[in-house]
Amino acid sequence: MSQTLAAVKGMNDLLPGEIEIWQHVEGLARELFGRFGYGEIRTPMVEDTALFVRSVGEETDIVGKEMYTFDDKGGRSLSLRPEGTAPAARAYIEHSILNQEPLTRWFYTGPMFRYERMKTGRYRQFYQVGAEAYGSKEPAQDVEVMDMVAQFLQALGLQDIALNLNSLGDEACRPAYHAKLVEYLKAHIEELCGDCHRRMETNPLRVLDCKNPKCQEVAGKGPNVLEFLCEPCKAHFDDVQRKLTALEIKYVVNPRMVRGLDYYTRTVFEFIASHPALGTASTVGGGGRYDKLVKSLGGPDVPAVGFACGLDRLVLLLKEGTRKFGASPDLFIAVADPGSQDTAFTLASKLRREGLRVDFDTRGGSLKSQMKRSDKSGARFTLVLGEQERTSGEAKLKRMADGSLIPVSLSGLAAAVREHSATEVAQRGNAT
Ligand code: ATP
Ligand code: MG
Repeated sequence: MSQTLAAVKGMNDLLPGEIEIWQHVEGLARELFGRFGYGEIRTPMVEDTALFVRSVGEETDIVGKEMYTFDDKGGRSLSLRPEGTAPAARAYIEHSILNQEPLTRWFYTGPMFRYERMKTGRYRQFYQVGAEAYGSKEPAQDVEVMDMVAQFLQALGLQDIALNLNSLGDEACRPAYHAKLVEYLKAHIEELCGDCHRRMETNPLRVLDCKNPKCQEVAGKGPNVLEFLCEPCKAHFDDVQRKLTALEIKYVVNPRMVRGLDYYTRTVFEFIASHPALGTASTVGGGGRYDKLVKSLGGPDVPAVGFACGLDRLVLLLKEGTRKFGASPDLFIAVADPGSQDTAFTLASKLRREGLRVDFDTRGGSLKSQMKRSDKSGARFTLVLGEQERTSGEAKLKRMADGSLIPVSLSGLAAAVREHSATEVAQRGNAT
């Protein structure tokens, strides 16, 4: 007997029933980000491994443990993209975008891959929507990006998501903080996990991001990065906060928050949900400023800021709500006798051409089973087509909400369905 094949662990099928939520979220992102002037990019799912090693950082969990890396048949080391910022920066450099425009706003959406320990809200193929703005070092750009995420989450109807904000300083002030942090960590070395012993040497900031509770406790009592900010970084951070307040975006300053990637400078932020459905996978999005990344990848010295939101987690939250997503059919055509099957088939095709969403059972079957299917489909109207309707050209449209019957002629069916849908919507509007 052949073995049943299943999807790869940590990689999910998205099927009708759930996909409507995804389409809603992605559609809303497209529309909203477009309003902010962000244009969509699509980069390949696979990149040179070196891109992620150089940008995300060798010492990060992503590059150290989580990447799907393989050699192609030409012996090149490639990796499935674990995130979208590095590929976007690579494309920005490769297409000399700075020569074409001084300020560039891009967004992307698509699958990312990380070999993680999977649980609710943490998968090996997951989806992100993210955006990057290149060319402005101004606090207004940081705040525009956070505003966009805040408006996105608000438009999705998601509440109880806290914006956590921090500044990691820049090359002028971070060394002093690093030194202090290392000194502090060394004094607490016995309390740290093995990974953190290594991180302490290679990238001490990573210790603050360790998920181990013991390490978190140590990190929580360590030096406060904000006390080390140089004047320009402090001014930047103050202005970011002033502008958030002006836009009435609530935030909390969290000086222990660092982000999982190496490339951030100055502003970093995370949107953290408190809904229990997400368990420990509560961060729905995060981002920050990365003024040195593009240059470090061989591009121009251009400042940038961006974010990425995890769509899987947003969809989990939306599933908890009562809102219904996706459109039901406008009309279900049921056939009363086998002789009407062909006419109904042709009619369904014509109505679809005229723009209606029409369901019709190509298998025919009993009227009872067809009516059952119509009910289940959530169709707004049902039309029963039999010999009498065929010969007279007149039929009755059944409004499924109340069972009322509306006389219609078959030739004007599309218009009638539209007209009565509109009055139904208007009546519903009046009632509320
Ligand atoms: P976490 O701390 O939860 O591991 P992260 O810092 O690794 O998150 P980022 O690299 O900042 O995550 O990615 C941005 C967003 O993408 C996260 O806030 C999260 O919503 C989502 N995300 C990251 N990894 C996964 C995953 N394995 N499965 C589902 N969503 C993910
Ligand atoms: Mg992670």
